[in-house]
Amino acid sequence: MSSISLQNITKQFGDFTAVNKLNLEIANGEFMALLGPSGCGKTTTMNMVAGIESASNGQLLFDGKPPTSQKLQDRGIGFVFQNYAIFTHMTVRDNLAFSLTVKKRPTDEINRRVTAMAKRMSIDHRLAELAGSLSVNEMQKVAIARSAIAEPKVFLLDEPLSNLDAGFRAYMRAELKILQHEFKQTMIYVTHDQIEAMSLADRIAIMDKGKLMQVGAPLDVYNNPANIFVARFVGSPAINMVDGEVRTSGSSAYLGVANGQQIELPSDLHQLFSKSISSAVSLGIRAQEVRAGQASDHDIIIPGRVDVVERIGPVKVAHVETQIGILKCMQGVELAQAGQHLILNLPVAKCLAFDTTTGNRLI
Ligand code: ATP
Repeated sequence: MSSISLQNITKQFGDFTAVNKLNLEIANGEFMALLGPSGCGKTTTMNMVAGIESASNGQLLFDGKPPTSQKLQDRGIGFVFQNYAIFTHMTVRDNLAFSLTVKKRPTDEINRRVTAMAKRMSIDHRLAELAGSLSVNEMQKVAIARSAIAEPKVFLLDEPLSNLDAGFRAYMRAELKILQHEFKQTMIYVTHDQIEAMSLADRIAIMDKGKLMQVGAPLDVYNNPANIFVARFVGSPAINMVDGEVRTSGSSAYLGVANGQQIELPSDLHQLFSKSISSAVSLGIRAQEVRAGQASDHDIIIPGRVDVVERIGPVKVAHVETQIGILKCMQGVELAQAGQHLILNLPVAKCLAFDTTTGNRLI
């Protein structure tokens, strides 16, 4: 185990800033996911931790001290990439034994650890086979087992499951979590898949264009996104977001949207908005919180017509056309059908508001 501290880390490639003043503290034994869209700087950050790239600026500390070596093995780091990195011409057994053999561990210890790890990853029946003859799923298992067997202090995984088929990916997600509990390594896990990050990580660091947007526990970033980017990136289906302008008229307040329509805001939301600095506001609410049916005084009420009903496993998502655009609704829509007229209730307490210009959270 090792703690990792990234302090004001910047990485330039010529004039281009791939990682911009990144500050991130990763605790001993923590499972940290780096989440963000393609090109946001996740792999570059990981490569700097691994010593594959050096930072242009800033400081990287392991257990409070600068790394003494650029080499992965000297830093006690195990690395698993998207594309399995194994010796295809060697047997599975020799692949698993490789790092222990290099370290000149006694033969009986190597045999014991190889057998235990192979069992652990359910590849014990493949030990005698050439690694290159395995399926892609199994090769990635070997790659993970091959890194894990060395019991690195820090385990870096860069999109390790993205080439695997969906069912196996779900299985491996659970396996990785168990593996981390057993070995208690510090793990950094790069992914662009928010479901993967939400289900695996203790905390998630969400990045965009080289910058850290927010870091927090999965439910924390889901319930309390710091900005529009995080609100949109995390959660499925994507959050409902309505851009508009807050207008007041006497004691009432309205959110006017681009098509000239407006919705009346309940007084408690109006009061919250009056404290905000911006009148250009994006109102966000998750589909899970929108309810079709009876209204309460603390709801924003919007009539609409069901455009389409999507089924996601056992639940349904109604896409409802309203005067302020399509809103997704997941409560009270079990029997909803296309063409049906509904009243949507958006509980004020579940509404998030953002400054449209800066993207920052207001409420
Ligand atoms: P992906 O999921 O697509 O791998 P990422 O979030 O991991 O994306 P990085 O691979 O870290 O992103 O790349 C961040 C940015 O830095 C990208 O715009 C990429 O093109 C650029 N970049 C990465 N490596 C280099 C390099 N060696 N030279 C120049 N630009 C680079």
